[in-house]
Amino acid sequence: MQGEYFVDVLVAGGGTSGVSAAVGASQAGANVLLVERSAYLGGEGTNAGVGALCAVYTCGDNPVKCVAGVCDLVLEEMHRLSPNSTETIISAAGNKNIQFKPEYMKVALDNLLDKNNVRYFLHTNIIDVKREGNIIRSVTCQDDEGRFTVHAKVFVDATGDANVAHMAGAKTLWGDERGQVMTATLPFRLCGVDTSKDMTPSAVERAVKAGKDAGIPNLTRERGFILKMTGSQEVIVLLPSVIPEGLNAEELTRMEKFTRGQALYYLEAFRRFMPGMERAELTMIGPSIGFRETRRLAGRYMLTADDVLNRRKSPEGVARGGWKPEIHSSLNEAATYLDVPGASYYDIPLGCLQSVDTENLYGSGRLVCADSQAMAASRVMGTCFATGHAAGVAAAVQGETGKADVEAVRKELIRQGALI
Ligand SMILES: Cc1cc2nc3c(=O)[nH]c(=O)nc-3n(C[C@H](O)[C@H](O)[C@H](O)COP(=O)(O)OP(=O)(O)OC[C@H]3O[C@@H](n4cnc5c(N)ncnc54)[C@H](O)[C@@H]3O)c2cc1C
Repeated sequence: MQGEYFVDVLVAGGGTSGVSAAVGASQAGANVLLVERSAYLGGEGTNAGVGALCAVYTCGDNPVKCVAGVCDLVLEEMHRLSPNSTETIISAAGNKNIQFKPEYMKVALDNLLDKNNVRYFLHTNIIDVKREGNIIRSVTCQDDEGRFTVHAKVFVDATGDANVAHMAGAKTLWGDERGQVMTATLPFRLCGVDTSKDMTPSAVERAVKAGKDAGIPNLTRERGFILKMTGSQEVIVLLPSVIPEGLNAEELTRMEKFTRGQALYYLEAFRRFMPGMERAELTMIGPSIGFRETRRLAGRYMLTADDVLNRRKSPEGVARGGWKPEIHSSLNEAATYLDVPGASYYDIPLGCLQSVDTENLYGSGRLVCADSQAMAASRVMGTCFATGHAAGVAAAVQGETGKADVEAVRKELIRQGALI
């Protein structure tokens, strides 16, 4: 495509938070365009084979629903396509999650954007950003036929990696105080598994250790999750992992190559040493490595571990987070969790979604401005739906009135069914 497009709100990226932002902005009356570089929507949710929506409910005992709005519309559409495409479960760790089938989510997200009059382009990469002072004017997009420009009043960066913010020269953050981000994992799926057998992290550890003793190489992580897909002989394995050191092509290639190779070594170890996996067959790797943490936005307010652990409420809250910090910092060990009171949530203030130095730039999902421990809680998909919804509504309000008055944003979110 070539030429120029003019919209109120441009949403960059069609993951859970981007789709949510686009629907929220459109329902608030904005003319919206969403641009996604993959062939389908859903981001990590569909691209990395992630298995369950966390934080739609608060974690731990006595779970309470803390995310609704666009997230509910997605779940309703998935249910309409196939009642079996989602299932509410209590996970091995004791949390109320919504297990989902990613292929149905892809179709449901397409349908939802259509139903909400959101125009969107797949197979389209944002490759440049034009900035004047502290305002973004336009983005340059590229498809297989050429380049085109999209001008917008307000931009939502929902790229997971703050790619638009980075290209715009907006301030971004990377990792913890040592500059280290959490591990990235390439999930893989197996079929032909006898899922009645023990596949807890302890059973995984026994099999992996036996594999190591037998000389199978590259089995770095010994403990990890195997998610059983209810009603099938399929499982998702979350083990092959690396620590990202950047997002350039060379580093991305290193990470994909290493973890893809690892998947085959884990399969060999499971077939030989894990009861129930003797006839397991590989159905899918990835398709793409899943990032838990990369670049995020430097916002007007930084969510802290203290906010998350104390379940702090805010009069400027535009989304609720129900998860606890789930920290994946070691290549060899499973995640560590920081404890929070059950049945409780924290508020995410509007300032976490607003760039500190670029007036018409919002970030949502993995980009939310948070310290590294708070980010380890806010990054899960239920919360990504909620922050995307809030960023989209705020962008629409700002596009229409020139500023995102927090009361106006909250009022519109409540009108759209968000829980705030
Ligand atoms: C291994 C793993 C397991 C996980 N398990 C769970 C789990 O069980 N439950 C849970 O709730 N969460 C889980 N998470 C976290 C969760 O999946 C992600 O944090 C969440 O999906 C991120 O959503 P997002 O919308 O912020 O970004 P993403 O899903 O990353 O979406 C960003 C989108 O932007 C697009 N994009 C990027 N750059 C450009 C560009 N320049 N131009 C156009 N498009 C672009 C990408 O293609 C992508 O589709 C897991 C994550 C990983 C990695």
